[in-house]
Parts: sequence; structure tokens; C-alpha cells
Amino acid sequence: MDKKKFDTKMMEKALKEAQKAYDLDEVPVGAVLTRHGEILSRAYNQMEGRRDPSAHAELLCIREGAQLLGDWRLLETTLYTTLEPCLMCAGALLLARVGRIVYGAPDLRHGAHGSYLNVFEKKHPTHTTQIEGGLLEAQSAKLMRNFFKQQRKKNEAAAGSAL
Ligand SMILES: [Zn+2]
Repeated sequence: MDKKKFDTKMMEKALKEAQKAYDLDEVPVGAVLTRHGEILSRAYNQMEGRRDPSAHAELLCIREGAQLLGDWRLLETTLYTTLEPCLMCAGALLLARVGRIVYGAPDLRHGAHGSYLNVFEKKHPTHTTQIEGGLLEAQSAKLMRNFFKQQRKKNEAAAGSAL
């Protein structure tokens, strides 16, 4: 399988994870970690369920991947995520030595690859992480839009019934 096809297939799996979050009323973000063409781990955002502000899909995914590998250094891995990583996740991915990050939609409010600010632009003296965005962007953005639309409706209904 060529690289582009593999990337697309992995992003489709990340979108499936995001859908799981959506179905649980969590902000729909999903992630998949691969190494040498194989899936190590997958995860979805669980901030509400775990009542944990750090339970982002990317963090849960690399934690599980590191446990599986038996090493916190995720060398030669690729992390696919449906949304541009935030500052926290970008920091963790850099520290974990993830080799490559591929994301779907930009996150205008928290994205750390230029949407909010860019932590990847400065070259690190000892290691590099490649990052690219826009893969299946429309699907990821649509899921996010639908989610927030649905949340607004729920809030309006709740406000209505309180009257
Ligand atoms: Zn994050």
C-alpha cells in the first residue's frame, strides 16, 4: 500500500474513534498511533467521561502505545489525529519523539500547528517531528460542526424547559 493510501486508511480509523466520542457526548476527536505500518493503539477524547482535562485522544493514544512498546520513546511512530493537536498534546508528542503527526481539521482556538500558535516552527537541536494537516479535513470538521450544533440544541432545549 502506498503512503497516501495508508495515511487515508488510518485517518478513517481515527474518524471512527472520533465518532465513538461523539456518541458519548464528548468533543469528537479520535487518534491512531502506528509504527512500521501497524496500529499500536487508538483512542478518542474522554474529557467528560473521565473528568480529566488531559484526556485528549492523542494523549490517551500515546500512553497506550508506550505501554505496548514498553518504552516512552515512540521513535518511528506516526500519530494520526482528526484535529490539529493542542499545545498540551503537541508538547507531549514532541517529548515522546513521535516521528510524524498527520491531522485532519485545523483547530482555530487551540491548534498548535499555526492556528493558535506554532510550536513546530522552531527546529529542535536533537530531534524532529514532521507534521502535516488537512487529511480528510472535511469529514473531521463536519463531525465537529454537527457536535457543537447538537450541543447548542440541547442547551436551548434545557433552557426552554427551565422556563
Ligand atoms: Zn490536545
